[in-house]
Amino acid sequence: MSEVRVRFAPSPTGYLHIGGVRTALYSWLWARQNRGTFILRIEDTDQERSTAKSIQVVLDSMRWLGLDWDEGPEVGGEHGPYFQSERLGLYADYAERLLASGDAYRCYATKQEIADARDAFHKTNAKGGFRFQSPWRDGADPPKDRDAYVIRFRAPREGSTGWDDVIKRRIDVPNDTQQDFILLRPNGMPLYNFGCVVDDLTMGVTLATRGDDHVINTAPQILLYKALGVEPPKFAHMPMVLAPNGEKLSKRHAAVGVLEYRDMGYLPDAVLNYLARLGWSHGDQEIFTRQELIEKFSWDHVGSTAGRYDAKKFLYVQEEHLRTLPDGEVARLTVPFLARIGIAAQADDPVLLEAIPYVKPRSATLADVADAVSYFLGEIEFEEKGKRKFLVPENASHLVQLAELIENVEPFEKEKLDEVVKGWLEANELPMKKVAQPARVAMTGRTRSPGLFEVMEVLGKDKTIARLRAAAELAASATTH
Ligand code: GLU
Repeated sequence: MSEVRVRFAPSPTGYLHIGGVRTALYSWLWARQNRGTFILRIEDTDQERSTAKSIQVVLDSMRWLGLDWDEGPEVGGEHGPYFQSERLGLYADYAERLLASGDAYRCYATKQEIADARDAFHKTNAKGGFRFQSPWRDGADPPKDRDAYVIRFRAPREGSTGWDDVIKRRIDVPNDTQQDFILLRPNGMPLYNFGCVVDDLTMGVTLATRGDDHVINTAPQILLYKALGVEPPKFAHMPMVLAPNGEKLSKRHAAVGVLEYRDMGYLPDAVLNYLARLGWSHGDQEIFTRQELIEKFSWDHVGSTAGRYDAKKFLYVQEEHLRTLPDGEVARLTVPFLARIGIAAQADDPVLLEAIPYVKPRSATLADVADAVSYFLGEIEFEEKGKRKFLVPENASHLVQLAELIENVEPFEKEKLDEVVKGWLEANELPMKKVAQPARVAMTGRTRSPGLFEVMEVLGKDKTIARLRAAAELAASATTH
């Protein structure tokens, strides 16, 4: 097999849509599986949207996901530059070639003339598709009174153009539906189809993967390849990601910008796993490591119908990935989420490292982990409901007794604490629940937490006793309503 060269070619919009990420992912997996080349190309010809900031979002998103590119921005490569706005000379050259071969022509029509022609057409054809018939298609002389022109493709009117899509199978389009589409604007900016073809062919792309909203562009692109005498690449058109209600997934339905998932505390591998499965399957396996995805991905099992976004399943996949992440890694990744809630901690903080194994099984995201370890590292904050229910005068003395009891426990470890505290409860005929919940609220501020003795061990003796005593005082002075 010849070398696999695939590309992801986003147009920066200010965020990288998870549907786009899935397209990038499948190409990336294919490249990595085949030891091929993954190219990142920025289609920045829409100068209003392609700000430095929106380009940065694309790069940051790809980097965060670990979808590394072999050629592209900041990395370079033999076929650069990798920004379309820096390749204008190349488009001009190719346009010249098409002009010379008669496959393109200069069209001097003004916007107004085209609009008038469209109106006239629709007067007699309420429905039919309008196609602008440029007088310059058939060789009219350039007008004397204007010099601005666009370069149009001289589309064939006979026959049809088709391809065997990797996902959608055979697609054929009659040529008489094609427009004489514009290749270059007067300012030298290419239109999408032309820029894409020149880039894919000069970059040696072997498979172009993109959303199926581009199916309509593929026949025009193949016509351009033919006119240039070049074999087109293969094409894979990915079904859109849909919302649960079947609409195209947008901001109205869910977080669609991939960095939003980073900020919610999702792991890149979980995002890739979830998106990979949204449209591709490998038996009934749901959870994949990155390496497994690379090994197991296959175009044969990419479905041709759209996958629906399922927030619950996404969270489940995230949870599963968090479970298997080593504790030290969870600690390191949790640090920025702690900073966000005002807790400055280092990744090697012993309290953080001790707490992680207990909170990890109870958390889904890194933000959850940060929240769950917050009372070990920072000040305690009482949830109003738990405080009102459990820190009441009748529980005050139990909290003091508990504090006194554990004063002499050595080593201050959960097994020993368990033994001593349970012995004391039995001797005093106190049910566990009478003491456990008030103590939990006293130590964590909450009614839900890891096991009581685990919490004590992580907090350490001094903090545990101080919190039990402080809570006892609060309880004693609480007024019950
Ligand atoms: N810039 C186009 C997009 O973002 C690229 C389509 C393609 O990959 O050919 O949809």
